[in-house]
Amino acid sequence: MTPDERREALESIAREVRVCTKCRLHQSRTRAVPGEGHPETEVIFVGEGPGFNEDQQGRPFVGAAGGLLTELLSSVGWKRDEVFITNVVKCRPPGNRDPEPDEIAACRPYLQRQLEVLDPALVVTLGRFSMASFMPGARIGSAHGTVRAVDPETGAANATAYAMYHPAAAFRQAAMRSTLFKDMLGVPEALLQARQRRAHDEETAALPADGLDQRASVPPPEDEPPPTVVDAERDVTPAHDVPAATDARPAVTRVNDEVGTVADVPAPTSAPDADATGRQLGLF
Ligand code: SF4
Repeated sequence: MTPDERREALESIAREVRVCTKCRLHQSRTRAVPGEGHPETEVIFVGEGPGFNEDQQGRPFVGAAGGLLTELLSSVGWKRDEVFITNVVKCRPPGNRDPEPDEIAACRPYLQRQLEVLDPALVVTLGRFSMASFMPGARIGSAHGTVRAVDPETGAANATAYAMYHPAAAFRQAAMRSTLFKDMLGVPEALLQARQRRAHDEETAALPADGLDQRASVPPPEDEPPPTVVDAERDVTPAHDVPAATDARPAVTRVNDEVGTVADVPAPTSAPDADATGRQLGLF
């Protein structure tokens, strides 16, 4: 898919979302919020649903939580227009209540199609409803800051999910702010692992059909199968040392070309979160 085709495909989905009436949430919305971002990115952030400001503007994460998400991205040297940002449900649940299961199910095809078009290497989930779509059965208290391979049924053909709390959690519980920044430091590392996984899978898939013995000889990436600690305190391999993904997207649009090392990232200024201290951050 060319960049223009990808952009048009995303806009086509957005046009459908803006007039969608597939669930009750359309009755109370001001504007649907399809999502936005760089069509060539490798990283998609998926929240739960639009809030008041998002509903008014038709754009994702533009309120206080959106400001914090921009801060979080900036803490690892990224800008929000370098990634893609969307939600599990595209219309605001009244009173910012949790989305209902049937609403999530009704809206799922839109996210699925966005994932098919974007083909992200990394899906960063924001909040438990988003996490449940990509890490079924996980509990966010133990899963935040960890990665898991994404089921291709989600629409992401070969992606890794990385779980984070929703930024809005920091406004309900002050200590959550430091947890969010700490987890955000693990995102570049998760992206590098996701790229390695994809490169390994592409290398394996390229072997001849009768080359089963050769397949068996292909060494797994370092992160498979043994769990690998994703430690926010550990230096991250610079992106330019990682073999580039082999698809046709131009390298200039790859956000990870601009990923710095952890050493480049300013440490969060808040006190460490006791819940996260000593927590094992590992691959599934
Ligand atoms: S939440 Fe999704 S399924 Fe429901 S009306 Fe909005 S776009 Fe359609």
